[in-house]
Amino acid sequence: MFEVKLVVQVKLLPTPEQAAALEATLRTVNDAATWVAALAHSQRVFRNYDLRRHVYGQVKDRYGLAAQAAQHVIKKVADAYTTLHAHVRNGNLGKRGSVRRERVLARPIVFRPGAAQPFDDRCLSWRMDARTVSIWTVGGRMKGVAFTASADQLTLLAAHRKGESDLLYRDGRWFLIATCDLPDVPVRAPDGFVGVDLGIANIATTATGTGDGVRHSGKTLNAVRHRHRELRRRLQAKATKSAKRLLRKRRRKEARFAADTNHTIARRIVTEAARTGRGIALEDLQGIRDRVRLRKPQRVTLHAWSFHQLGHFIAYKAARAGVALVWVDPAYTSQACSACGHVAKNNRPDQETFACTSCGFAEHADVNAARNIAARGETGWAVSHAA
Ligand SMILES: [Zn+2]
Repeated sequence: MFEVKLVVQVKLLPTPEQAAALEATLRTVNDAATWVAALAHSQRVFRNYDLRRHVYGQVKDRYGLAAQAAQHVIKKVADAYTTLHAHVRNGNLGKRGSVRRERVLARPIVFRPGAAQPFDDRCLSWRMDARTVSIWTVGGRMKGVAFTASADQLTLLAAHRKGESDLLYRDGRWFLIATCDLPDVPVRAPDGFVGVDLGIANIATTATGTGDGVRHSGKTLNAVRHRHRELRRRLQAKATKSAKRLLRKRRRKEARFAADTNHTIARRIVTEAARTGRGIALEDLQGIRDRVRLRKPQRVTLHAWSFHQLGHFIAYKAARAGVALVWVDPAYTSQACSACGHVAKNNRPDQETFACTSCGFAEHADVNAARNIAARGETGWAVSHAA
């Protein structure tokens, strides 16, 4: 059992007056955050508690913030520095003394005018029946801001929304990002496993140890990515401000489309596993980047994070449905014969085909891999539940 946190994004539909108030609010809190960040940087005070003692009164008066808003601004700054310092510690910005690292460390963090701002229940209340929120703004409390969400999202929000929500402005639209805490669902003992093989031509292929495979094609997604890549090339050549803005927009659109595709595939896989009483075996995704070696144009289509995202979607949907999930070692799942276990590189004459050089078993390469993953899932479950 593990607890599931779900993020629900709802789009706000403010009137022009409401939008102006939201804009002024977000701009003000982010100006305030930038000011606090500069102070934190020059005084070398980064922890939330210390920073609050230093600047709380000042930031509240100077920017006309409510008490809660001022505290959220300070915490946002402290969190941003914590993240930055973690990146530095992990070497993500280069070695000590590297130009990039020194440049980043020399300057205080700056917040965009539309950057996300957390609102807690005292600053933001939801009226689910009317589909509106009431929200604190710099011009006072604003009631009746309409929002839109799917039926699924509304049910989730009404039953499980908890804690803070983030207000943000992106591509000309207003969003609230709410968090839902889902209760634990007990995991049912699985009757067999379905293995999930992740790939590019087929985003996911599922198969039980011996059954037929189901392939979830990546055709549409790859076509979208290809189109975007072409456009990107043309726009990058331009390098104007508007081209850059369009590029950013495109990138987000592509990411949204990839996420939608991953959600759909994850839902299908989990629904099928729940219906048949099976568990799900997933490759441990750490290995994916090393395992997949591709020609350069394809390497661009391969987003390791996209696999990561799909694995994450499957994991939490499985948890919500009480479907058992096992992570397995992905080594040699593509080269091993799912019929006799023989491992050899030449079991794979080409990308699509598996043909065992020992026993003659032949199958689509992704289906063979998915069967191996299913078998490993079964073993993994048996081992971890032996006691
Ligand atoms: Zn074989």
